[in-house]
Parts: sequence; C-alpha cells; structure tokens
Amino acid sequence: MTPATQAVPAALPMAEAVIDLDAYRHNVAALGALAPDSQLMCVVKANGYGHGAVEVARAAREAGADWLGVATLGEALELRTAGDVGPLLCWLATPGEDFAAAAAHDIEVTASSAEQLAEIGAAAQVPRVQLKVDTGLARNGAFGQDWTQLVTAAAAATDLQLTGVWSHFACADEPGHPANDAQQARFEEAVAELVAAGVRPGLQHLANSAALLSRPQAHLDLVRAGIATYGLPPDRSMRIDVDLRPALTLRARLAAVKRVPAGTSVSYGHRYTTQRETTLGLVPIGYGEGVHRAATGRAEAGFRGHRVPVAGTICMDQLVVDLGDLPAERGDVVTLFGPGDDGEPTAVDWAGAAGTIAYEVVTGLGGRISRSHVGTQERISR
Ligand SMILES: *Cc1c(COP(=O)(O)O)cnc(C)c1O
Repeated sequence: MTPATQAVPAALPMAEAVIDLDAYRHNVAALGALAPDSQLMCVVKANGYGHGAVEVARAAREAGADWLGVATLGEALELRTAGDVGPLLCWLATPGEDFAAAAAHDIEVTASSAEQLAEIGAAAQVPRVQLKVDTGLARNGAFGQDWTQLVTAAAAATDLQLTGVWSHFACADEPGHPANDAQQARFEEAVAELVAAGVRPGLQHLANSAALLSRPQAHLDLVRAGIATYGLPPDRSMRIDVDLRPALTLRARLAAVKRVPAGTSVSYGHRYTTQRETTLGLVPIGYGEGVHRAATGRAEAGFRGHRVPVAGTICMDQLVVDLGDLPAERGDVVTLFGPGDDGEPTAVDWAGAAGTIAYEVVTGLGGRISRSHVGTQERISR
C-alpha cells in the first residue's frame, strides 16, 4: 500500500464535547419528580443548549419527558425529521412562517397576537395553537389590550384547536423578586379572561427551570425545563436541592508541550508571565469554538486531577495552560470543564471567569468541536 491509500489511524478528536446522556436522563427524571402532578417539557432549543438537539431529545423521551420545546419551527422540524413523534411546541416565528408544515408534522405553535393567530389559521388546516400572554417579561406574548384582542380572536376562531396558554418569567432565578408574584397574578387574570370569553384554556404553563426548582405554586399543568436538565443551575446563587449532574465535558488533547524558564511571557499581549520554570501545554481550542476570550486571566482547566491556570490570552484556535511540574506529553487530555468529578472546573466556573452565565458557556460551543454522546454502555473516559 502506498502511504496515500493507507487508512488514517482513528485518532481521538483534537477537541470534543462529550455529552453524558445518562447524566442528562438522570436530571430529567429527577426534575420530573419535583413536579409530579405536572407534565414535563424538556427544552432542547439552540441545538440542545449546545449538547446536540437530536440526541438530547431522544434521551429526554427515554427519561419520561411528556413534551419537547424549541424556539423555532425549523428546530421542531429537525426533530421530526430525526424521528421524534411526541408532543412538541415551538414559540418563535416571524411573518411568513410555514405554519402549514407545522400542522402537517403535528407541531404545536404559539400565537402571541391576534394577527399571528389569523396567520396561523389561514396557513394550516386545524392547527394546534397555544396562546402566549406577556405577563411582564416584555418579550414575546400579547400584552395588555393586545391580550384582550387575542382572546376575542381565539373565541371567534373555529378552524383551530387551542391547546394551551402560557407565559414566561423574567426573574425566576431570583426567587424573592416581587416580579414573580406579579407575573403569576397577571397570568391568572389572563387565563380568567380567556375562560370568561368561553375559551377552554387547555394546558396552563409558566415555569422554567428556576421556577420548577423554587416555585412549586407555578408548576401548574406543565413545566418547561431547559438549563437544569443539562445539569446546570439557572443561577450560581440559587440553592438547588436536587442532584443535578452536568452532562457536558469539553476536552482537548495537548498539541504541544514545552519547558520554559521563569520570566517567559505567554500569548498575545504578554498578559501572563511565568514566575518560575514550568511546563506549558498548548490546547487546540479557542474562541473559534466558543471558549470565552473574556475568561482570560481567570479561567482554569483540569489536568490529571489538578486545576491548572489558563496562561495568557485565549486565542481563536488555541490557548495555553501552565502545567507547572506535572508530567505532560503531547496528546494528553486537558478538560476545560465538566461535571467537576475529577477536580476540573465546571461550566459555572467558566461563566464566573468570563462574566456570563453557564447557559452561554455551553450553548456557544461550536466551531471545530466534535460532539460525541455517551451513556449506558460507555462512560466518559479520560
Ligand atoms: C428557554 C426557555 C425555557 C427554558 O428555560 P431554562 O431557564 O433553561 O429552564 C422555557 N420556556 C421558554 C419560553 C424558553 O424560551
């Protein structure tokens, strides 16, 4: 065989996100048990918060999710194409959305105004529609007089099936925030208005992960859990009484290792200078993969059971870790974040270092990262 036709040996990927579906299923089951009288919707928008929507959606169903939720119809259709057949809701549309496709694939859509309800009714044969009321987030949903108009339109509509009414909290990650009570009271009023107009409200729902965890009176008929299903807290400061396991581990193999003397300045801008002779490891991952450059100067990684500092500026394709005197070779695995079981940082730690939230740390992963899903048979092995 000539070298050109020789098979390339199967190498571990340079950088990968490994998603532990056992951890994810564990979280889904544990969260479902927190709201035993409510249906559970697992939110898998934005490629399953960076975890891989199709795989996560399948695991959610296996773990007992009654519903899946996504933002856009495109995301919902991707799940249908992948074979998902269960209850599925989407909630974000711009004019001209293909609501006929939604109905054809048994996808429930959301109307946030009378105009949108008319658009849905005109596009599809007996579409399944939920109504969204803006109770104080001032994002999507019908607010004030617009809700009354939507109620009137819903009461008059004969060619649609209204299956639910819902809203979304602004401050559920601060359980003591007065907006939570105000939004829930406004929601109850909005539902009462619907009922007074002779419309059966169907499923009433309000709770995201934070409200599922902290506000039992908001569980209602259904809870919509996103971040917590991935094993991450909605906010670092929230007390969480359920065992959540971070599902995603971000790791890469050292592309280079070098011994350098004290006084060596590292990476763009020379923001880091070694204090003593040390070993530097080159990690082939950077902001091109969604690793936050803003974490420069604060971030750490896991290596051989130790936390090691990220040395200097995080670059587009690479970053450097200061491994001290730990034995290190090219190809060794560095874990940027994971469940923390082996001493490595978590996505919450990276969020703190980058001045953001764990949602963004996992959802922003992309670029040249490959994703692999493990669970049941395989474990994440280093
Ligand atoms: C993203 C989203 C959720 C899930 O929120 P988490 O905080 O991740 O639990 C629930 N409902 C709606 C409407 C959303 O957009």
